[in-house]
Amino acid sequence: MKRLLVSACLLGANCKYSGGNNALDGETQRLLRERWALVPVCPETAGGLGVPREPSERREGRVVNRRGEDVTAAFSGGAETACRLCGRFGCKTALLKENSPSCGSGTIYDGSFSGTLTAGDGLTAERLRALGVTIVGESRIKELLK
Ligand code: SF4
Repeated sequence: MKRLLVSACLLGANCKYSGGNNALDGETQRLLRERWALVPVCPETAGGLGVPREPSERREGRVVNRRGEDVTAAFSGGAETACRLCGRFGCKTALLKENSPSCGSGTIYDGSFSGTLTAGDGLTAERLRALGVTIVGESRIKELLK
């Protein structure tokens, strides 16, 4: 069975900054598990950030949290862990939570903490993409269930 790297919060892990998750509905998770061997990862907690934590956004090449603290090193470490896991398990595709400063693909929040989206990838998505991994956001999950 092919392996799929997945944002852990989409599978119900309470690793989101708020302490919650972004769980896909149960039927979708069941269908996903029928087709793929899932490799969950949360880059932000893998990088050493706690739960709950301040939300963060990418800004001018760095990642900063809402208090203005630079958390780039933690985000970068988490991205490295995700890339290592992806390589170790031979994942060619990743299902990643949209708009996140780590996992987002195509659009992310713009660094102003005003809820404004801009074009770009989260740090982990960017590094995975550079390795040739196909990134799929949850709004396109049907592509993975064919
Ligand atoms: Fe979910 Fe990714 Fe954020 Fe972790 S870093 S909570 S997996 S979106």
